[in-house]
Parts: sequence; C-alpha cells; structure tokens
Amino acid sequence: MKRTLTTCPYCGTGCMFYLLVDDKDTLVGIEPSSEHVTAKGQLCVKGWNAHHFVNHPDRLTTPLIRKNGILEEVGWDEALDLVVSKLKQAQSAGGKDSAMFVSSAKTTNEENYLMMKLARAVFKTNNIDHCARLCHSSTVIGLMETLGSGAMTNSIDCMEKADCIFVTGPNTTEQHPLIGTRIIENVTKNGAKLIVADNRKIRLARLADIHVRWKNGTDVPFLNSIMNVIIAEGLEDNEFISKRTENYEELKIVVADYPPEKAAEICGITAQEIVDVARMFAAAKRAMIVYSMGITQHTHGVDNVKCCANLAMLTGNVGSPGTGVNPLRGQNNVQGACDMGALPNVFSGYQKVTDPDVRKKFEKAWRVRNLPGEIVHTVTTAINAAAEGSLKAMYIMGENPMMSDPDQNHVREALEKLDFLVVQDIFPTITSDYADVILPATTYAEKDGTFTSTERRVQRVSKAIEPINQSRPDWQILCDIAALAGYEGMKYDSVSDIMDEIASVTPIYGGISYERIDMIGLQWPCPDRNHPGTKILHVDKFSRGLGKFSPARYRPSVEMPDEEYPFVLSTGRSYFHFHSGTMTRRSQLLDREQRFPYVEISPQDAAEHAIAPGSWMYVATRRGEVKVKANVTDVAKKGVLFMPFHYKEGPANLLTINALDPVANIPEYKVCAAKIRKAQ
Ligand code: SF4
Repeated sequence: MKRTLTTCPYCGTGCMFYLLVDDKDTLVGIEPSSEHVTAKGQLCVKGWNAHHFVNHPDRLTTPLIRKNGILEEVGWDEALDLVVSKLKQAQSAGGKDSAMFVSSAKTTNEENYLMMKLARAVFKTNNIDHCARLCHSSTVIGLMETLGSGAMTNSIDCMEKADCIFVTGPNTTEQHPLIGTRIIENVTKNGAKLIVADNRKIRLARLADIHVRWKNGTDVPFLNSIMNVIIAEGLEDNEFISKRTENYEELKIVVADYPPEKAAEICGITAQEIVDVARMFAAAKRAMIVYSMGITQHTHGVDNVKCCANLAMLTGNVGSPGTGVNPLRGQNNVQGACDMGALPNVFSGYQKVTDPDVRKKFEKAWRVRNLPGEIVHTVTTAINAAAEGSLKAMYIMGENPMMSDPDQNHVREALEKLDFLVVQDIFPTITSDYADVILPATTYAEKDGTFTSTERRVQRVSKAIEPINQSRPDWQILCDIAALAGYEGMKYDSVSDIMDEIASVTPIYGGISYERIDMIGLQWPCPDRNHPGTKILHVDKFSRGLGKFSPARYRPSVEMPDEEYPFVLSTGRSYFHFHSGTMTRRSQLLDREQRFPYVEISPQDAAEHAIAPGSWMYVATRRGEVKVKANVTDVAKKGVLFMPFHYKEGPANLLTINALDPVANIPEYKVCAAKIRKAQ
C-alpha cells in the first residue's frame, strides 16, 4: 500500500491525511495523520470518506463541445482552441470586461493564482472572483477595515486556550467538526465558558452557559447592545483601547443608541440575556469570538463583521492566545483563493489593483503591459449583468453557481443569455448543463499543489494517483489556454515553480516553499525563508497600525416575514454533505446518511400545518417552491425554517433572495420570507 500525505478537500479546518493506493494504482482508503497539528490522528466522517468520489463513474474524462445542442467528445486541442477564440470574440464584441472568470475555492493556491493571472495578464480584465463572494467577502472587507487583515486572527489550537468562547453564526460541530471538537473539549475538560448566539438549538448550544435565540438578521443591534452594557458598566479594557485603537469616541456614540431594552425588542430576546452575555464575555481573561456564515451572509454582513471586531477590541481580546476574531472559512481553500487574488480588487496578498505601483510590480514580474486598474464585476454582479445581456462570456472553474448562487431561476436566465460558457470541473453539474465547452479537471488526489486552511496554514496537496483518463489538473489547463492565447509567461516545469513565483510577488507568502511546508505547513504572514510563520496576528500592533473601531447601525434584512410568507428561511450546510453535493453525494456512505432534501421545522409549526415527521412538504418563497422532507426537530425555533443547500432535486437556492450587501456584494442567504404547505 502506497501512502501519500495530503490535505482534506472538504472544510477549511485543513486536516491532513494519507491517501492509500494499492498495487494497481487504485485509491482504496484514507488514514489520518497523527503528526498533523490539527488532525492529531482524527478525521470527521467526510474526511474518512474523501476518496470515494475520485473514481466515481460520473467523472468527466474527456473534453466536450456542444454541437447542434448536443455535447460531443472532442480532443483537448479543439476544445482549448474554441475556448480561446470564443473568449476573445466576446471581448472584441463587448469590451474586455464583458468576460468573467470564476475561480474556485476547491482548487489549489497555484491554480487560483494562475486563474487570476490569466484573467489579468492575458485577457486584461479584473473580472475575476470566486465563491468567497458568497461566504466570507464581508469578512475580508470588514476585518481589513478594522484590523488590517481579513483573516482569522488566531490559530485553531487557541480554541483550547480561551476562557470564554462566543460562537455566533457557525454550526461548528457539523461544518468544521474537528474545530467543534476542540471547543467541546475546552468547555467540558477545562471549564471554559461558552456563549452561543444562534436561533437553532445546535449541538454547541446544548453545552452552552448562555444560548441566545435572537431573530435572524438582528446581529448588529445585539452586538451593539453587548458593547453598550460593557461600556455602561465600565467593563471595557481602557489600556488596550487607548494604546492600540482609534475612533473609540465614534463607537461610544453609536452603541449608546442600543440600550439592552431597546435592542432586546428588535432581537426578540430579553434585556437580561444581553446583559448576561456582556458580563460573561467581558469578565473572561481570554475571550474569543468564533463566527461564520450566520454573521457574513446578510445584506449587512460587513456591518456584522465590523461589530465582532469592535467587541474584541473593546475588551482587549486581540493579539494574544485564546482570543481574537475568528471567522471559520468553509471550503478547503477559500482562504487561499482570497490570498491568491481571485478577487476583483486585489492581486495576490491583497495588493490593490487600483494602486499604480502595485500594477507596475506585477507588470514587471509577469512581463506584460497595461494591467487593468478598473474594478467592474464581482461574481454576483456578473450574474446580474449576464441576465441583462451586458456580460457575454463566463469561464467557470470548479464552481456551480446554479446551486450556490441565490435565486436559481435568475442564475439560469443569466447562463442561458451568455454567448459563451466554459465550465471546467471534475463532474457534470447543473451549471455545466448550460456550457458550450466542458473541460475535465482532476481531483485533489491526482495533482500537486497547496491549500490554505482557515488558520492561514499553507499545506501540501500531493498527487497519489495518475489523472483519470484524459482529465488534466486545472493548472495545466490554465497554462495551455494562456499559451494558446499567445502569452509566454505561464510556462512552468513543476507546480512548486508556481509557488516560487507566488512567493516572489506576494509578501505574506514570501517565505513559503514546498521544501518548508512538507509535513504540517506554515501559517502566513511568512515574509521570508527564515520566518517561522505566524500563529497569532496583531500581537504588538495591528496589521493596519492601530485597530479602528468601525461602528455600524441596524439595517433590517431586505425581505422580512409578512402575512403571506410568515416564516423566516435560512440556509446552510449539514454534517454529511458539502456545498453543492457534487462530491459527497457521490460518496455512498455519506449519501446514504442524508439522501433526501429536507427542511428543519419546529414541532409547533409542523403540528399547526399537520405535517408529520419525515413526510414530504413544500417550502415556497417569492422566487419558487421546492418539495422537501420535514425534519421536525426542536433544533428549529418556531417561525424559522432551515434548509441545507446540497440537493439539486430540492435546491434551497431556488428560494433564496438575490439581495446583496452594498459593500461586499454578498447575498442575503440567511433571511428571506417563506411559507409552507403539506404535500398530498
Ligand atoms: Fe476534512 Fe474538515 Fe472533516 Fe477535517 S474537519 S476531516 S478538514 S471535513
């Protein structure tokens, strides 16, 4: 049995494990790594089953071109020629920014860097984005403004050092299971205090000292009111505030408008709950905030993130072990895709495209002229532009917007209107149903590269088996397209050469190389080859110098319940499945555990609508209606429905609303108005 150490392709926790390959070069199993700092010899159920989908018969194995409405197998040369000529044709007709490049949090850092380079250096547009737009773009912007870096401030092992953990927005035991385990161990073994703000009674809520079930979308008044109490009772850290921060007076003015009684009414909780949370959080020597998409996926997502940062700074909980503002990143490499500049406004390392000196630096390194400085589209506005007809072409690598973007009918309309769509993926998806060209890529098991975990740890992905049939690693496909488009600057002998180039132009990755990150990786910032990596950010000073209090005022969610649609619908992930389900639903064991689309509904709501547990029912919003199974559970609060978004036959995103945060353009997945009925 050959053992190859690599990194899990699912969540951002970043566990490393061994892929087991038999003497016929077949992937047969997984073995955890006991040496790895995060895994410590453990894996969750998805990790244990991360090999099953690799050899699934549905794999895309040859390039396909749509001819007379039918997808036909073709050779690589024909497919790639068509991609280059059609992208150029779209740009000649509609301008450089009429093409959109969608990168992928599933692919490696090297591949995200190359997609970014292809868009900017070869096709001369900043229309490059990926699914961080849908999950943590508000984190990147909110934490950058307040702290100077849009990443998790601390490390996963800090979960064991906190005296108080405030969890708001993630269902950690299901979505980042090994991080959830660390939190549970700290609470049960060390007696750490646990505050959970979530209207679902998630597993952590059952262990919590305080569980607050506020109304979805009222995070800003809730967090402002906590700060109001802390200031009113003199519990703030004045030394930290005066030495390390700015704009405190502005924060005081804004949070003064959120006394507990007023905020409690908005949030649907008691004033005493707010006071209790404020006192418990402020009293802890080391208090940590852990948040995720429950905070970020709102039309006020950036405001929510800023409030989290404000609370941490107010109590001096930044820059030391067991503290910090810790956004848990969902996909295996969503942190890395952001770091690599697969975003419209920055090159790798968050270097701004609007800065002429930065553009000059990249022009020199890439040996090109006139890199674009205009920011035009995010992935969410690109879909709107395609629906309106102004965006002509899309190149989608490893993403599935038909499943993951809000308002599926709107996305369908957009994809149908495009002049040209190329999808590069490992399996056919409902997005590739609309493609003119499909390019077969390899899975993580068939290629080399790196992923960056939620704690900024850059780790190796190592090839265990040869690419299946004619599939090719994404990085090779991107290099071939660049060469066909006439660009000489994307020729590499190996993937490690790409990382060397990344390190040369990206200061936070300056000291990263394959030799250095072999077994457990390195955490950025790692500016040079002698630097040991950084476990905790903002230790002596913030990345922006002083931490900036950035207060926000309450703005209600866009679509609130009313008489016709009396429920709040929220969406998210489940324990057994992952995102649009392309991999986990092709894993027999995972699919067996949760085979059908479902909605969590409270026992009271189910009884009022005569809906029996496990029966079929309909959930409808102003965008459409889907049939799902009723998961009748006290996890759900009365009046609130929760649907996972993994099922194409019961797509939650047929129902969600295409309303965007005005700064981050992140959709409001966590709040829209819905109604239900029993299926006959
Ligand atoms: Fe993979 Fe995340 Fe599970 Fe670890 S916790 S095994 S990274 S899915």
